[in-house]
Amino acid sequence: MAIMNIKKFFIQTFGCQMNVYDSERVGYLLEGEGYERAEAPEEADLIFLNTCSVREKPAQKVYSALGRFQGLKERNPRLLIGVGGCVAQQEGEGLLERFSYVDFVLGTKELPRLKGILKDLEGSGKRQTAIGLEGRVDPYALLPSYSPRSKACSFVSIMQGCDNYCTYCVVPFVRGREVSRPSRDILEEIRSLASCGVKEVTLLGQNVNSYGQKPGGEIGFVQLLEAVEAISGIERIRFTTSHPKDLSGDLAGAFGRLSRLCEHIHLPLQSGSDRILRRMNRGYTREEYWEKVQALRRNCPDISITADLMVGFPGEAEEDFAATVKMIERVQFDEFFSFKYSDRPQTRARLFADKVSEDVSQRRLEEIQTLQKKITRQRNKRWEGREVEVLVEGRSKTNAEESAGRTRTRHLVNFSGKYDPDGALVKLKITKALAHSLIGEALPRGETPS
Ligand code: SF4
Repeated sequence: MAIMNIKKFFIQTFGCQMNVYDSERVGYLLEGEGYERAEAPEEADLIFLNTCSVREKPAQKVYSALGRFQGLKERNPRLLIGVGGCVAQQEGEGLLERFSYVDFVLGTKELPRLKGILKDLEGSGKRQTAIGLEGRVDPYALLPSYSPRSKACSFVSIMQGCDNYCTYCVVPFVRGREVSRPSRDILEEIRSLASCGVKEVTLLGQNVNSYGQKPGGEIGFVQLLEAVEAISGIERIRFTTSHPKDLSGDLAGAFGRLSRLCEHIHLPLQSGSDRILRRMNRGYTREEYWEKVQALRRNCPDISITADLMVGFPGEAEEDFAATVKMIERVQFDEFFSFKYSDRPQTRARLFADKVSEDVSQRRLEEIQTLQKKITRQRNKRWEGREVEVLVEGRSKTNAEESAGRTRTRHLVNFSGKYDPDGALVKLKITKALAHSLIGEALPRGETPS
């Protein structure tokens, strides 16, 4: 009997949800080509690194990962290694020059060319680079969007690129100008996902609030949310990332009006100092940000608000940092991601002379993280004794006897009791709030949260 030689692929993803989404779709494309998923890079015939260059650290991680894969290539010369995503877009041919064992480089809008590139590599063995950016068609129209093994939650890209040019950010240079995907393609993709059992979709873009205002979009963001709400089978809708300057009153109102829109928003603040916000080219003041927070809470009192904060931006003086601390105390975020500023290629801020020292940045980072830890714990406390709906995502990472899932407000809940399959919507009572998660217990079947 002939033994079929099935090829395996391994994808390592760095960075944001956009990259996770791109990697999923590359995986579906490879499965369509007869590849199977490898559990580890050592088993793979093809390794694909989907990379991130938004901050210095993830970019460095890409280079160390490539270093690790060199040994695998030496042991198995037939192994193919490819690099995609933002580092690939930025470095292009340079990656092939620097890493002699990398076989191909694929830019952020070139993913659909993977199939052809693999064919060429098999035929000629010639290393390949594809990093076209502007004027490219929507790559997602050319990639398979779901597989029968889709999970209960799925990402859906609604736009590409960004026109905001925040002075610290590399995204406009590696993802291109902002383009909205046509709503009919987005809605078709979500209908397909719903028919595979997907219950929760997260609409993705660098700046989802301006959906429809740029080439390609023919309806506004709130209209898009209304259309997704009408798709049967979709129980939860999320979106990320929002830009505070484009968050409309209409969108704040949608949180009180659309029953499937989950009560969570990620609204990057970056700094609480107006002077620094101006230097960052963010397009809003702290008072404007605060007004948007109040509008959201008026429409949806339970909404959970998370953010991104940056410390050590060039020129950030002690009083600028104090203004950030004050904003954290005022807004009372549920949680935030915080970072130290780092110079990124092509950005304007890398040319600013008044850099903040590493020591000062580190001290500021630790200060806001300690403050937020306290606030998160207090914010989590408000859930104790309340009944919530949780979408089960699998076994708890801390206790294999327990299940884990997320509330509509995106809080992680671990709970014991009868195990429900992934994707089940279960009713729980929250018994305890911890620093980063909640503990719940199952309600007797038939009881529903108020
Ligand atoms: S809004 Fe600013 S930070 Fe966000 S992707 Fe665009 S340029 Fe980067």
